[in-house]
Amino acid sequence: MPDLTQLSFAQAAAALAAGTASSRSLADALFARIDAVEPRVKAYLSLDRTAVLADSEAADARRAAGQARGPYDGVPLAIKDNLNVTGQPCTCASKILAGYTAGYDATVIAKLRAAGVIPCGRTNLDEFAMGSSTENSGYGPTANPWDLERVPGGSSGGSAAAVAAGEAFAALGSDTGGSIRQPASFCGVVGLKPTYGLVSRYGLVAFASSLDQIGPITRTVEDAAILLDLIAGPDPQDSTTLPEQAGGCAAALADAAASVRGLRIGLPREYFETEGLDPEVRRAVEAAGKELEKLGATLVPVSVPTQKYGVGTYYIIATAEASANLARFDGIRYGFRDAAAQDLMQTYRLSRAHGFGPEVKRRILLGTYVLSSGYYDAYYLRAQKVRTLIRNDFTRVFGECDLILAPTAPTPAFKRGEKAADPLAMYLADIYTITVNLAGICAISLPCGFSAGGLPIGMQLMGPALGEKRLLQAAQAYEQTANLANRIAPLGV
Ligand code: GLN
Repeated sequence: MPDLTQLSFAQAAAALAAGTASSRSLADALFARIDAVEPRVKAYLSLDRTAVLADSEAADARRAAGQARGPYDGVPLAIKDNLNVTGQPCTCASKILAGYTAGYDATVIAKLRAAGVIPCGRTNLDEFAMGSSTENSGYGPTANPWDLERVPGGSSGGSAAAVAAGEAFAALGSDTGGSIRQPASFCGVVGLKPTYGLVSRYGLVAFASSLDQIGPITRTVEDAAILLDLIAGPDPQDSTTLPEQAGGCAAALADAAASVRGLRIGLPREYFETEGLDPEVRRAVEAAGKELEKLGATLVPVSVPTQKYGVGTYYIIATAEASANLARFDGIRYGFRDAAAQDLMQTYRLSRAHGFGPEVKRRILLGTYVLSSGYYDAYYLRAQKVRTLIRNDFTRVFGECDLILAPTAPTPAFKRGEKAADPLAMYLADIYTITVNLAGICAISLPCGFSAGGLPIGMQLMGPALGEKRLLQAAQAYEQTANLANRIAPLGV
């Protein structure tokens, strides 16, 4: 029997359809791999094996009775631990949510369950999705499966590491400023940040509501398209969702090769001239551009002058929204309450002081400051205006080209501890991803090579709002020539 954990999400579904695997055997194969590598990778915060086995046996019974909920009924999927799954912990990797059990399913989880997909394990993250290395987790860091001394990226580092280590067929992450794409890039997998409003945020613990989007982390572009089709669509529970109906992205991949012919791919000067861009990353992304050219695309030089304001603008808007969103963690309603508190004020103070980690506190302080009267106009209001300029820049550029090609991150995965003491250096890890969230557009990171040291390098394709089909088609066409799909870190097993 071949090792089932080597299968992509689509291949696992195909094995179920062909009868060469059962849902139970998929779950058992994942558990065996998890037992073998998880002590070193630490991708998961929790995994309810009993629930997964019950779900997989129920899926097998449905399929045997000819009542499968669809092609993906019985395929397990890892879930970032900031998404609510009924009856399971949802810690956001924060001590303040220790002991909290979700009372409902996030919309994406409900949609996946309706298709028979099995939530399988909760993956580690930077606390409340704030960070770029998963070192800010309140429960310890995750390792990069390609080099255990390095970070997997963040904040969805657990999801990316689980997928890269063969501990999951695919996973869900969330992306506020790069948290799906940057860890995908560091771990040699695919990560898709959908257009703002395409996927419901209901049941995603909010970090910065105007920037957050849920998306897939996978080993193939096809899997990303399949999962997007499953989770996207309007939701009455989230008034920021767009009216667009989901679906059709996976089917559109059949035309991937044809769609690249004549495609105009913009190379933004600012993204390739940044100080701090690793020469190996630059070369790999430029070579990917040449490959796309061979496939029939035209490379167009473009300019996004406001790119340099991305990080500054993001850290005002994201922290402002976070300071409001995190006010609900008061020691009363969810999870942790400090036992030493004698009265109400102390309950708030001590629970928040001991429940939140240092990065979360730093952001609450910064966000409260930029929203305070006297500073609001100078910081928050101005940041909103710059956000509009950034969005306008992308609108203009998407008049000159169909997609934009850039690095996902300036460097391959860095060493654990290397940037932990320097928040500014850490913030710059997202210099290429953040503007996409500010503009509300879509983007994908996919592998485009390895460094001389054996570390994965990711490239980023960006598309206009609701441009997912074309984005995925171009990514798929590149993937087919690059021979980098579905790579699993061996981990000596
Ligand atoms: N690294 C960025 C931050 O720390 C983005 C995080 C994210 O996308 N959730 O805020």
